[in-house]
Amino acid sequence: MVLNTWKITIGAIPRASLGVLISVRTLAAKIVPLIVFLVISATLYASMLRPEERLFQEPSPTQFEFHSGFWINLHHFLYREAAVEGPQTGSHMLTLNINDGTELNLLAADERATWNAAVAAYSNTWIHGDLLFGKGMGAIKNELEDAEASADLSEAQIPSELKGVLVMVAPIYRKHWWEKHNSQNRQWILQLQPLLENHGAELSKSLAKIYETPWPHQPIRVDVVNYANWSGAYTTLEPTRPTISSTEPANSGEAALEILFHESSHGMVDKLMKALTADEKVANPRAASEQVQLRRDLWHEVLFYTAGELVAERIPGYVPYADKSGLWKRAWPGPDRALIEQDWKPHMDGRAGLQEAVAKLVEDLALAQKPQ
Ligand SMILES: [Zn+2]
Repeated sequence: MVLNTWKITIGAIPRASLGVLISVRTLAAKIVPLIVFLVISATLYASMLRPEERLFQEPSPTQFEFHSGFWINLHHFLYREAAVEGPQTGSHMLTLNINDGTELNLLAADERATWNAAVAAYSNTWIHGDLLFGKGMGAIKNELEDAEASADLSEAQIPSELKGVLVMVAPIYRKHWWEKHNSQNRQWILQLQPLLENHGAELSKSLAKIYETPWPHQPIRVDVVNYANWSGAYTTLEPTRPTISSTEPANSGEAALEILFHESSHGMVDKLMKALTADEKVANPRAASEQVQLRRDLWHEVLFYTAGELVAERIPGYVPYADKSGLWKRAWPGPDRALIEQDWKPHMDGRAGLQEAVAKLVEDLALAQKPQ
C-alpha cells in the first residue's frame, strides 16, 4: 500500500488531511484567494510514524506537488486566445473551451477593451515564442508559477511589459474565469489521487529502474492549467516541471496517470538519449549513401511507449495514449512501435540491460531501412 498523504491549501488557510500538518513554503501576506496547493508527500508522512511502523514503510519515491496557480493559468489563457484569434499555422487547430468563449461575450465594454489589449500584446509578442522551446518562455513560466501567491507580481522576474499586461487584466480574469478554471484544475488533481495511491509508487520505481536514473526531484512540482501548449502538456527541465492541461480530453480519467508519468519521464531520459546517439554512430560506419537515418525523436517514441505500457500493465483494459490517438500511424509510421516492443520491452521487464536493448533497437531499425 502506498502511504501518501496530501493536503490542500486554499488561499492562506491550510487544511491538513489525515491530521498531518506538512510544512510548506511560507506564503507571503499577499495571497491570491482560491489558489490550490496540494502536496503529496509519503516521506513526510513516514516521518510521522512510530519507529516500528517506519520499519515497514518504504519511503515512496512518488512525490508530486500539484498547483493550480492564478498567474500561470492567466498566462496560458491569454496565449491560447491570441493563438486562436491569429492565423493558425501549426498542424494542430487550437480552440478555446466553449464556456470560455461564451464568457468573452459577457464582458462589459471597458473590460472588453482592456482584455483585447492584453490579447493583442500576446498576439504581437508572446505567442511568437513557443511555450516550451521559445527563448525565455520556460523561465517566464517558472516565475509565474512561483508567483502564484502574489497579488501584483512584484517579485516575479519577467519582462516588465508582460507583467504590466498580466496585472492589467488580472481583475477581469478573476471576475469572469478564474473560479471555474481553478475548480476544473482542482477536480483534475483530486480525480488523480486514487490512481496515484494505487499505482504511483510502483510507476516511479519502474521508471527509475528502466531509465537507470533517479526520480528527478522530491517532489516534482506539477502546475495544472486549463490551457497548456498545443499538445496538452509540456515539461521544462532543470528542474523538471510539468505543466498539464486539466481540460484536454486526452488527459482525463486514467490517461491523467500516463500523462503525469510521461511528463515526469522527460527529466529521466538523458541516458537513453545518449545511448541512442552513440549507437546510431556505431550503425553508421558505412559510406554516406548508406547512412542510417533514425528519427530525431526516437527517444520520445521510446518514452511514449514506456509510460503508456507501464500504465497499461497496471490497469486492465487501458489503451496507451499513443495507440489511442493514432500517434504511431500519424507521427511515426513504420516498424518503430513493433521494434520498440520487441527490443526495448525486454529491458522494461528486467530481461536485458538498457545499453543492450538500445543497441538492438538501433540495429533493427537500421536493418529495416536497408533496401530489401
Ligand atoms: Zn513527451
